[in-house]
Amino acid sequence: MPALATSDIIAVIGAGAMGAGIAQVAAQAGHPVRLYDNRDGAAQAGIDGVRRQLEKRVARGKVAQAEVDAIVSRMTPAATLAELADSRLVVEAIVENLEVKRGVFAELEALCGPDTLLASNTSSLSITSIAAGLERPERVAGLHFFNPAPVMKLVEVISGLATDAEVAETLYATAAAWGKVPVHASSTPGFIVNRVARPFYAEALRLMQEGAAAPATLDALLRQAGGFRMGPFELMDLIGHDVNYAVTRSVFDAYYGDTRFEPSLVQQALVEAGRLGRKSGQGFYDYR
Ligand code: NAD
Repeated sequence: MPALATSDIIAVIGAGAMGAGIAQVAAQAGHPVRLYDNRDGAAQAGIDGVRRQLEKRVARGKVAQAEVDAIVSRMTPAATLAELADSRLVVEAIVENLEVKRGVFAELEALCGPDTLLASNTSSLSITSIAAGLERPERVAGLHFFNPAPVMKLVEVISGLATDAEVAETLYATAAAWGKVPVHASSTPGFIVNRVARPFYAEALRLMQEGAAAPATLDALLRQAGGFRMGPFELMDLIGHDVNYAVTRSVFDAYYGDTRFEPSLVQQALVEAGRLGRKSGQGFYDYR
């Protein structure tokens, strides 16, 4: 299947860490992009953040100012979901909560034409469940980017039970056209990367809880001896503890409480305290 045409409108719902980055990727590839968030001002703030990031690259001579202006001019904030109706592809990147996502997909089905592809950037939730109950679940797939979306090459293209193979192929080709390295996967809890990454976080959290070493020591060790680009604590701070904890809970629940995936009470406490990592200024580390 061919990739979507660059004239096709791409909509992104959720202008947080991931949504703004995904919108940037699509705009860099030449698409007109609409960004919607239900928090007042968040979509414009997301676009402003993309401009700031790109202008840092201008200052380092990596990209021309005219190119940055062109990319940002292709990104438009949307004030309502209805403004996304004529998009060819909608990528949802909102809170990691099945019921909330299902509500948004039901609204999208009512608003968008029959040819609009609907994708979720969920890290762990079942694509089969997100699509269930829709009239046309075959046009729903996972399009799972990694953080930060403009930098990380890997994209998991997730098929639920009802996903049409042509929809998955179109998303795969589109991700490749956007300069990404896509892989096909079926909808299992956590998909591929977030499933194999669970022990990376879980064992590090257990070591810390047992008093083996402090987060900074464990991070340094895994970077230097383990060869990881980031240690588990700095990576959880980057991802956001609300997101990371929700993913662990969803994988734990999906595997009927398999203790290998048991969520950490220390991470739960960080979420309860609002210490979500970089985005809130505090997590395992202090960013203030
Ligand atoms: P985030 O908290 O940074 O941003 C979420 C945004 O969605 C917020 O701006 C919020 O206002 C908005 N939102 C929430 N409910 C909404 C609704 N009903 N309608 C419109 N907007 C709504 O979260 P994030 O880290 O960008 O994660 C978003 C999704 O991407 C989640 O499903 C998460 O699991 C997934 N994901 C996250 C990462 C990561 O490293 N953070 C990586 C890959 C995938």
